[in-house]
Amino acid sequence: MAVLAIDIGATKFAVAIVDSAHEVNFRQDIPTTQLWDGLSHALLNIRDSQNEKITKIGIGSAGPINVQRGEISPVNIAQWRNFPLIPKITEIFPDAQIAMVGDAVALAIAEHAIGAGRGTRNMLGMVVSTGIGGGIIVNNKPLEGDYGNAGYFGHTVVGDYDGGCNCGRLGCVEGYSSGTSMVRYAQNNGWSGADFVVLAASAQTGDKNAIAAIEFGVNHLAKAIINIVQIFDLHHVVIGGGVTEAGDIYWKPLEKAVENLSTSLGLVEPIKLLPAQLQRNAGLIGAAMAVGLE
Ligand SMILES: [Zn+2]
Repeated sequence: MAVLAIDIGATKFAVAIVDSAHEVNFRQDIPTTQLWDGLSHALLNIRDSQNEKITKIGIGSAGPINVQRGEISPVNIAQWRNFPLIPKITEIFPDAQIAMVGDAVALAIAEHAIGAGRGTRNMLGMVVSTGIGGGIIVNNKPLEGDYGNAGYFGHTVVGDYDGGCNCGRLGCVEGYSSGTSMVRYAQNNGWSGADFVVLAASAQTGDKNAIAAIEFGVNHLAKAIINIVQIFDLHHVVIGGGVTEAGDIYWKPLEKAVENLSTSLGLVEPIKLLPAQLQRNAGLIGAAMAVGLE
């Protein structure tokens, strides 16, 4: 049976119907700036375009989320604090069964089942883009936590740098290592580009500020990765999100930084970093799987 999947991201929302073969159909992308107006419009569209009644809905949302109350407060969507997403969706689909997970948990579920993490028993899934999120699979199951935020490590602290993190704290890994943060770091040192795609291209041509910003980001992200894999005894890390699409100019220094930090005393065995395979549909597929896709 097909499932309605909803992906709430910092820059865009996506809705789609995911079928039992994990195919994503009727996908619509809506800029996050349209908030509930845009999202509800897309949901009504998809409801009215289906022949069958929608009975299952899976949501993957930027965090933090609160699965007990059905609310979300994404750090990078300032207008939504304790936004009652599930109650709102229930107004449109009163009889549907609804499940919600973090967006990186959704990625972890999908990549573990049919992507780069296939065959692993335990893994960390991560998203590195406007923000940084994580989701942990232990014994082939996603870890949920009390409120659905297990593995959400973007706002754990790896230093005391003021990276301008939207949560307001100093030293968050997101303030060092998100695409936005690496761009800001380079700009503060005199680089004049606008976004991470341009930053990666500058690094490719040998621009010292661009290379330094990426190094700064990956070195701190590596610390956060090592913290998590050490606590949970994980050795496979699947990484998705726009930043990783930059390829080797990002990936090679990240691999090196993780390797450098993981060699002491056998605290962790060698860690495999794997690029996500499902790319832009991972969040939707994982969200659908979270509510049950069969
Ligand atoms: Zn933060």
